[in-house]
Amino acid sequence: MNLDIAKIRADFPILSRQVNGKPLVYLDNGASAQKPQVVIDAITQAYSQEYANVHRGLHYLSNLATEKYEGVRGTIARFLNAGSEEEIIMNSGTTEGINMVAYGWAMPRMEAGDEIVLSIMEHHANIVPWHFLRERQGVVIKWVETDARGDLDPQKVIDAIGPKTKLVAITHMSNVLGTVVDVKAITAGAHAKGVPVLVDGSQAAVHMPVDVQDIGCDFYAITGHKLYGPSGSGAIYVRRERMDEMRPFMGGGDMIRDVSRDNVTWNDPPMKFEAGTPGIVQMIGLGVALDYMTGLGMQNIAEYERSLRNYARDRLAGLNWVQVQGHSDSKGAIFSFTLDGAAHAHDISTVLDKKGVAVRAGAHCCMPLMEHLGQNATCRASFGVYNTSEEVDVLIDALELCHDLFS
Ligand code: PLP
Repeated sequence: MNLDIAKIRADFPILSRQVNGKPLVYLDNGASAQKPQVVIDAITQAYSQEYANVHRGLHYLSNLATEKYEGVRGTIARFLNAGSEEEIIMNSGTTEGINMVAYGWAMPRMEAGDEIVLSIMEHHANIVPWHFLRERQGVVIKWVETDARGDLDPQKVIDAIGPKTKLVAITHMSNVLGTVVDVKAITAGAHAKGVPVLVDGSQAAVHMPVDVQDIGCDFYAITGHKLYGPSGSGAIYVRRERMDEMRPFMGGGDMIRDVSRDNVTWNDPPMKFEAGTPGIVQMIGLGVALDYMTGLGMQNIAEYERSLRNYARDRLAGLNWVQVQGHSDSKGAIFSFTLDGAAHAHDISTVLDKKGVAVRAGAHCCMPLMEHLGQNATCRASFGVYNTSEEVDVLIDALELCHDLFS
């Protein structure tokens, strides 16, 4: 099925606004995506008609909010094809999900000298929690590098797993290079060596169908604000056996069964891992966003974005003064680039902004990767389902202006 992109664009009110007197060309989806009207309406409806705290009250509104909120667990489970909704822990996003695994699963079972294998492409959210373990209990981080095309050879990751490796933590899609990693092959190889795998799905889940049972991974983290949903929403899939091994990371209301002066017993998982009042409305909004994406069809989204990627790739290749980082065949519609000459990425993005084009400039929370690439900063144009080839043309025109200004 071909997607009707004009219709999709009309679903996102912000896309019709102007920025600096120019039509907005929003190419910063890798940082956070815009929200369709259905999500905005769901948030308004939840706050204006259906709001109360969840899981606690016995009154009508509390029951209604609980029903809506808990319904999202099933939506997420279906979106990721988890075996059961009990394998879904709802949270504020990937950062919380990975920290939960670091504190709740890895910390109690890792000692000085134990290893965790990461790729050089990881976002700081999938690096810094492991640095806590390195700093605090002597865990060793082993890095696996990408090749010149920005590809990550799954076998290199598997080969890096030694007798002391306790976890492989790997991105499914790089937020800088757009490279899609073969996490299924990595999981199969890691499991053959008895090592669990955490997948950072922050980017991948936005752009392609994800099936955690097919991948076979132990943990899969997603973040709602990139999935056209509200900020402060997210989830982590945790395979049942791993959940049984995990201890709670945060304590508070909701995650307990019984508390006395001298004792505490836990609620059943996944509630055991959801302390305190959650992002009730954010999660309700995320459920609507996932339904919206499912309605478009994740395969359709993947196919459309592939054509957009090809168009952008070919147009950027026509500018021999633009250096794009990463040329993997599996690359998604994310382009990090620098321009020949002395122009800093921040200056380029400022000029693009004057033309209404929103990109991100900097290290993209991926400093080890930037060092590996020999870059301090790049500009990044990251596409979503509502972007068009005409917007690629606007980007190219604005880059030509940068070239004129800075060369
Ligand atoms: N992992 C990747 C690959 C990302 O791109 C991001 C966000 O930029 C994150 C993790 C962190 O997500 P959040 O800040 O929503 O927790």
